[in-house]
Amino acid sequence: MSLSSVVIVGAGQAGFQVAASLRQGGFTGRISLIGDEPGLPYQRPPLSKAYLLGKISAANLAFRPEAFFDQQQIELLHDSATTIDRQNRHVVLASGKSLQYDHLVLATGAHNRALSIPGDDLAGVFGIKTLADANALAPRVKDVRNVVVVGSGFIGLEFAAVAAAQGASVHVVDLGDRPMARAVSAEMSSLFRQAHEAWGVQFHFRQGVTRLIGENGKVTAVETTDGQILPAELLVYGIGVIPNISIATEAGLEIENGIKVDANLLTSDPHISAIGDVACFPCIHNHGEHSRIESVPNAMDQARTVSARLLGKASPFVATPWFWTDQGNLKLQIVGLSTGYDSTVSLGSVESQQFTVLCFRKGELVAIESCNRPGDHLAGKKILSRPPELTVTEASSPDFDLKAWELAHRP
Ligand SMILES: Cc1cc2nc3c(=O)[nH]c(=O)nc-3n(C[C@H](O)[C@H](O)[C@H](O)COP(=O)(O)OP(=O)(O)OC[C@H]3O[C@@H](n4cnc5c(N)ncnc54)[C@H](O)[C@@H]3O)c2cc1C
Repeated sequence: MSLSSVVIVGAGQAGFQVAASLRQGGFTGRISLIGDEPGLPYQRPPLSKAYLLGKISAANLAFRPEAFFDQQQIELLHDSATTIDRQNRHVVLASGKSLQYDHLVLATGAHNRALSIPGDDLAGVFGIKTLADANALAPRVKDVRNVVVVGSGFIGLEFAAVAAAQGASVHVVDLGDRPMARAVSAEMSSLFRQAHEAWGVQFHFRQGVTRLIGENGKVTAVETTDGQILPAELLVYGIGVIPNISIATEAGLEIENGIKVDANLLTSDPHISAIGDVACFPCIHNHGEHSRIESVPNAMDQARTVSARLLGKASPFVATPWFWTDQGNLKLQIVGLSTGYDSTVSLGSVESQQFTVLCFRKGELVAIESCNRPGDHLAGKKILSRPPELTVTEASSPDFDLKAWELAHRP
């Protein structure tokens, strides 16, 4: 397939990477990267952690300086794509501009699920998705005394760790019964719960938030479903995201919990791919079930798969998912998907905060979670990139060492 123009909608992690990989792979045609946020494309992970603590500047969040886009002849358009004319292969922008494409890549990401409770429009209520959100939040974090976090997923807990480190009193409210329940094993949840409690964070599990109470337009407290009133000058919520599918839906593309794509990340239109947080793909690491994965590695790996295909080297997307989160002194790295695990083997100890959990499903190793054990994570990535042979019995032997096992079983 010979292409002369690729249009990419969404200038986030996945959109930027597909543009950069196309040029790196020798693509000489036109590349247009459309992003509806101001400034240069940037990385989001520090927004809920290092950036709020002033450990990284806004300039250092950008993937590349402005000169890169000129040098690489990547046309960066600050605009919003509003319509896809599939018949004529055009994308129409809010400015009225229309761009022709030979291939279109949708990398529109996701937006935060809203709190949708009375009082959620009060000042002092924040979700964290964009640099603008983090810029509004950062000055509030320094002197705040009472913080409520709604949701104990990665972003909620990263923020809880930041606020606790600043000396705030932090309450975390979650409908589930343990931290990061959707993403990690009960053993790893337990380590993080203990660590947060040691930092002074108070958890309220199996609780929702019914309303926010305010004075003079500012949040002052939060009411939980069991009637407790928690003081809060600042409320941060992280209760999941909703994929940005509107232009794909209007264009008649197949939708299933995101933009539905096949194993090659093609949508129901062979001239359109979808990647990153918005793409719902058949995941070989999840029984082939259509899945959406919200992570930087997934966005980058999918971008590289699509760019390789556009450069004539098509192959199905099979990358092993991996994730990380930084909370206080804890770095958690996860490889694989632990969904539906039925047994675990733990290495190291919760007390030392150097702890690895191997998750098995029906005897098959499906995920490895490592807290402050980067060597185990690296070994785990190698082990799970091949059909995993490690058994529960082997892993349970008293002197088992994951790194040594990986070395001994290299193909
Ligand atoms: C605060 C925070 C912390 C995170 N921390 C981690 C972490 O520690 N580790 C990790 O692996 N992942 C982390 N993530 C998740 C990670 O950032 C995302 O998975 C990743 O950015 C997904 O890339 P994407 O390109 O699919 O979407 P995004 O990076 O969200 O980019 C999508 C872009 O498309 C734009 N857009 C949407 N519609 C249109 C349109 N019609 N026209 C033009 N532009 C449009 C959006 O505004 C956005 O700029 C974090 C996310 C957040 C918000």
